[in-house]
Amino acid sequence: MATHAQQVTTVDILPQEDPACLVFPYAKTWPRAKNPSAMTQTTDHNQILFDRAKRVIPGGVNSPVRAFKAVGGTPRFVQHAQGAYFWDANDQRYIDYIGSWGPMILGHGHPAVVRAVQEAVLEGFSFGAPTEREVQLAEEILRLMPSMDMVRLVSSGTEAAMSAIRLARGATGRSKLIKFEGCYHGHADALLVKAGSGLATFGNATSAGVPPEVVQHTLVLEYNNVAQLEEAFTLYGKELACLMIEPIAGNMNFVRASIPFMKRCRELCTQYGALLVFDEVMNGFRVALGGAQSVYARHLPGFEPDMTVMGKVIGGGMPLAAFGAKRAVMELLAPLGAVYQAGTLSGNPVATACGLATLREISKPGFFEDLSRKTRSLVDGLKAAAAAEGVPFSADSEGGMFGFFLLPELPQNYPQVMKSDGKRFNHLFHGLLERGVYIAPALYEAGFVSAAHTEEDIAATVAAAREVFKSM
Ligand code: PMP
Repeated sequence: MATHAQQVTTVDILPQEDPACLVFPYAKTWPRAKNPSAMTQTTDHNQILFDRAKRVIPGGVNSPVRAFKAVGGTPRFVQHAQGAYFWDANDQRYIDYIGSWGPMILGHGHPAVVRAVQEAVLEGFSFGAPTEREVQLAEEILRLMPSMDMVRLVSSGTEAAMSAIRLARGATGRSKLIKFEGCYHGHADALLVKAGSGLATFGNATSAGVPPEVVQHTLVLEYNNVAQLEEAFTLYGKELACLMIEPIAGNMNFVRASIPFMKRCRELCTQYGALLVFDEVMNGFRVALGGAQSVYARHLPGFEPDMTVMGKVIGGGMPLAAFGAKRAVMELLAPLGAVYQAGTLSGNPVATACGLATLREISKPGFFEDLSRKTRSLVDGLKAAAAAEGVPFSADSEGGMFGFFLLPELPQNYPQVMKSDGKRFNHLFHGLLERGVYIAPALYEAGFVSAAHTEEDIAATVAAAREVFKSM
């Protein structure tokens, strides 16, 4: 490692007097110590920021779901975060169940991660030349997910999924692909698709600006529908480059691919020579240390996907994602092979430091057992609170990821998820928000518990939910 970082140490750049400052240097000087209860409309700093933002950023946000469009109201502008909490522009504290949509599995500002990032920053922000930490991170990912022999690091889940599809097409010489309704794999053109009117019609673009020719090779199927899957392979199996799936779909809240369904996905891909691509951007290193693939392997011995797409936790909150597969497939990538893929900031030295420190923490013995227990206790608590107030409710979790529905039974696919009553969800969302609990502002999004959430946080969340359930 560079000697420069050894000379300029972490503590040199931080205030010394208060140990808390080592973790969050602005803690003492935070500018807006206001009394939220004395707030008037004109002193709502979230609203002031949102109005300013809307003048210069489309919808005031840099990713659509942040705009609160589904639930209404004013998005909270985060000023700082620590552990299981963040504070908004009014200095209001929230228990955070989004955790940057999954990456913050250790909570915000974990000391080991902060230190690793600070040290990396001193060595340099970006070089456009290889670094040792990229090798270490690749080795660590492969150790935790042995289905892959090699990985390539990129900067976002979108980029990883898009590149995985190009590689699958390059490896098979085929064009068609299967995705499932309700699964999200980022916003690459070929993946912004909804089902056509039947298996013969292929997909329709879900976004303006995506030409029909670009999605004509994407077949969108119903999640957990074995009969339809078999029909699709009978019709198109020999033309399929890959089948891409979120194994535990977090983009329709929380829906597990059933074991028989996943078994058929594996068998049919093998039979027809299509690649089974697991999108573990959300699931990976979050539902279990070995990702969702390790969860399915518990039920289906020897189970492995052919390719894995990763993101979120592997960057620990910094822009970092990856895709990987067996050596023969990965060696088709440039510079070795004919499938082109590249990135100025790929394997960024600060992001890799953040990701590595995060993976090291979550690899410690007992980490996932504790996280799973805590997440399960949240889900059980919410179920009991809903039952006590007579509210139809179902919920599920795996590792540190959870989902709940204002429906009596867990849904199995996207049409069933969308039977949820949006108005009732919005009531729950705003009721929790008022009580200092921040869940995803849309009913089709998953939730995340971190190692920093305490039993007290969980109990406070359940108590808040019970109050809201009572009013429903
Ligand atoms: N795949 C899955 C399963 C995701 O949940 C997401 C983002 N939520 C993506 C891909 C895209 O990742 P990114 O937002 O980093 O582009």
